[in-house]
Amino acid sequence: MKKWFRIAGLVSVLFLPALLFAQQSTELPALKQEAVTEVDRLQTFTQQMVDQIFSYSELGFQEFETSRYVTGILEKNGFRVERGVAGIPTAWVATYGSGKPVVAFITDIDCIPRASQKPGVAYHDPLIEGAPGHGEGHNSGMAVNITAALVLKKLMEGHKLAGTIKIFPGVAEEILGSKAFYVRAGLFKDVDIVLGTHVWHEFSTSYGTGDGKWSGLVSVQYFFHGKAAHAAGAPWDGRSALDGVSLMNAGWEFRREHLRLQQRSHYVIINGGDQPNVVPSEAAVWYYFRELDYPHIKSLYEIGNTMADAAAQMSDTTVNRKLVGSAWPTHFNKVIAEWQQKNIEQVGMPRWSEADQMLAKALQKEIGAKVEGLKDKVTPLSEPVKEPIGGGSDDVGDISWNVPTVYLMYPANIPHLPGHSWANAVAMATPIAHKGSTAGAKVQAMTALDFLLQSELVKQAWDYFRDVQTKEIHYESFLAPEDKPMVEMNKEKMEKFLPQLKKYYYDSAKYKSYLEQLGITYPTVKAQP
Ligand SMILES: [Zn+2]
Repeated sequence: MKKWFRIAGLVSVLFLPALLFAQQSTELPALKQEAVTEVDRLQTFTQQMVDQIFSYSELGFQEFETSRYVTGILEKNGFRVERGVAGIPTAWVATYGSGKPVVAFITDIDCIPRASQKPGVAYHDPLIEGAPGHGEGHNSGMAVNITAALVLKKLMEGHKLAGTIKIFPGVAEEILGSKAFYVRAGLFKDVDIVLGTHVWHEFSTSYGTGDGKWSGLVSVQYFFHGKAAHAAGAPWDGRSALDGVSLMNAGWEFRREHLRLQQRSHYVIINGGDQPNVVPSEAAVWYYFRELDYPHIKSLYEIGNTMADAAAQMSDTTVNRKLVGSAWPTHFNKVIAEWQQKNIEQVGMPRWSEADQMLAKALQKEIGAKVEGLKDKVTPLSEPVKEPIGGGSDDVGDISWNVPTVYLMYPANIPHLPGHSWANAVAMATPIAHKGSTAGAKVQAMTALDFLLQSELVKQAWDYFRDVQTKEIHYESFLAPEDKPMVEMNKEKMEKFLPQLKKYYYDSAKYKSYLEQLGITYPTVKAQP
């Protein structure tokens, strides 16, 4: 009896891995189908999350309500949550399961200044004048990832699947403020693959340099210090910090002509002094220096620093600087993208209603964009462009150079919008965002299953990461050891609007949707002439 057990034990040790793998591969399509069905069953939950976070409208580093709400859901569902990671109060990590592989989900949660907008209304109509709003659509990402994670947990329990799911929030993404700090804090050390996701009007994924419209950057604030004096009575006694700022900006504008065409740089004056009859003793300017790779970003940053020092010399002021954020240009993983693409094609575009299309077209007309409505086909996976031209940035770039990563773009917004504005908030608490998020959650869950059940795919993703992506380029953080996350940023702006925003928080116990709570007819469009 004893001996028989020993032999059976030996046999199972020898054959179990192969057996398990074969079993898992045949199980995979059925599990994916189950995931799709479960995501569909959670449609109301997904919609409520999209609407709830839309109503919080929190700026970078001030995502307190959003984080409380999301971590609350996760804890209630058996995830372990660690808060305040990487020295950021609104950052956290939620974990479920154990062992390998470790699959991480990440998506942004912050919003845009002055982008307040009534959802479902196809013209500029702020909910609260001047208030922050989800004018990019970051309110939908957590609905995608949490829906997928809850479904995965259920399947992992039900089918006894091994592996770990981790969830991260992209805090202060709009100021590229958190993810390089996450990497520095070692939060991704034990992670095998990262499935990031971001709102878009297409259903797509990419690898390598993708469409070439991504840049990396450093975001830096320069603080000039002068000497106050009566601006008319004794101007010769004063030294204007604003002169320092103005000279730096003028210098930068001239230098721009002699920089590579791939650079993009922009600035805002964050402190220009108090009133004209006081020579400004303090002034400050905030720059984004964008380029395509680490050496070029570093060199732009150094030119900026030289220009600041020279401007201080000219104005007889002093200057110091603070790094606010940084981002490596993204590089996504080919192996994961190829598997993800199959899932995108299997899920397909959401079925848009006439009302959805009417809202999209009316908004496109209103802002003078191409009137095309919503996309009805998924985007094929294309070869990365050979000569990137650059564009926006995302600090997920730093993660992508440390762990094999992809970014699923899910179709929850309207095409041809300007980005970072009220127009990009219009669809974000409507059926367009709800359906797009459900579609995104299906792909997240299916792609996670691909990697949970086929361990050799994790190896292939790492082979690409080591042998192709990082063969010649090695990650080096832009952060200096003394750089800290700027967690106080946006505090005053947020506090100013909080009492008004609270009146509009979505109450899902009382109202089916945020549109219903606000009494908005969907869609609200201008009468046709
Ligand atoms: Zn974004």
